[in-house]
Amino acid sequence: MDWAASAPLCAEALEAMMPYLRGVWGNASSIHSFGREARRAIEEAREEIASFIGAQPDEIFFTSGGTESDNWAVTCGAESLGADGRVLTSPIEHHAVLNACAALQSRGVPVRFVACDRLGRVDPEEIRESGFGPQLVSVMTANNEIGTLEPIDAIGAICREKNWLFHTDAVQAVGAVPVNVKQSGADLLSASAHKFGGPKGVGFLFIRRGVKLSPLLRGGAQEHEKRAGTENTAGIVGMAAALRRAQGKLRDREKLTSLRNEMQREILRRIPDTFPNGDMEQRLPGNLNLRFAGADAEALMLRLDLRGVAVSAGAACASGTPEVSHVLRAIGLSEKEARECLRFSLSEENTREEIEKVIAFLAEDAAQIRHTA
Ligand code: PLP
Repeated sequence: MDWAASAPLCAEALEAMMPYLRGVWGNASSIHSFGREARRAIEEAREEIASFIGAQPDEIFFTSGGTESDNWAVTCGAESLGADGRVLTSPIEHHAVLNACAALQSRGVPVRFVACDRLGRVDPEEIRESGFGPQLVSVMTANNEIGTLEPIDAIGAICREKNWLFHTDAVQAVGAVPVNVKQSGADLLSASAHKFGGPKGVGFLFIRRGVKLSPLLRGGAQEHEKRAGTENTAGIVGMAAALRRAQGKLRDREKLTSLRNEMQREILRRIPDTFPNGDMEQRLPGNLNLRFAGADAEALMLRLDLRGVAVSAGAACASGTPEVSHVLRAIGLSEKEARECLRFSLSEENTREEIEKVIAFLAEDAAQIRHTA
């Protein structure tokens, strides 16, 4: 129940990748037939991926994943605005955006944060009121911890009106909810294959035609001289196959939403002093984030792990120090409360029986942890 951390590689992706791992080993930049075969596969994947998000193929640039796409969009997006450029973002962004912003700040680029409410929603009107000069606005499509879907269509409309550059980190949204760059008006959009059943280490950045973004990685002339490095042919082909599958399953998301709602209802009914985090309506279908008051979430997570259940705790252990979630703090939870939260992220492959089992484990483990606290 930790699909938001990484989804297993789906069979369709693996099958599509196999020929490029075994036989078709050519470098897509080579002009001999081995290279041309790899090139053809990459361009087919580019076309297909573009069609899923309402983009043109020449607006899709392959990267090593969400982190690179975010760093590229934020760093080079801000630089493209010139000396008086600045960045406006939200406090609940992924660290790939926040730390890229921190690096810009240390180089003297002004970075400001819009507030978000208790549900994790950014107010587009606050964005409208925020700026006077050229700015890059970076607001995620869906939050990775609490699942809240941000009003990116409204934010995109404001950015178009003001002529601001708009980046959205759609790493958790692509493949989980409909994403369309025509509708949102995003200029830059980040995605990562391993979140929707593709392989790790591959993703893409959508760059709207006409947006001038310098390369983050310099070297060879790959990706129209925008992203150097030999293309990850198998990864790219696997990403397209996984996205095809995920897009096909978008129709089932009501089923997933009701499974998630049922799980939430049952947990709240059976385990006292449990509180949901995030927006109940504008939310990723598989995301459930709950606070078990008085129970340390890391202890709960470790107990569930011993039982073979994977979930995420609100305080992740980064480099040996348990770091409290900046997202949970930003929506108003105290440090102690943030340490009592678990994220469950389901997929349509989770079954009712699994959910039943997890709820029974949780009820037992939460009671024991609270008892000994
Ligand atoms: N952005 C969001 C919202 C994420 O959830 C993640 C991964 O957890 C990333 C960016 C980073 O993506 P990647 O793991 O492909 O570097």
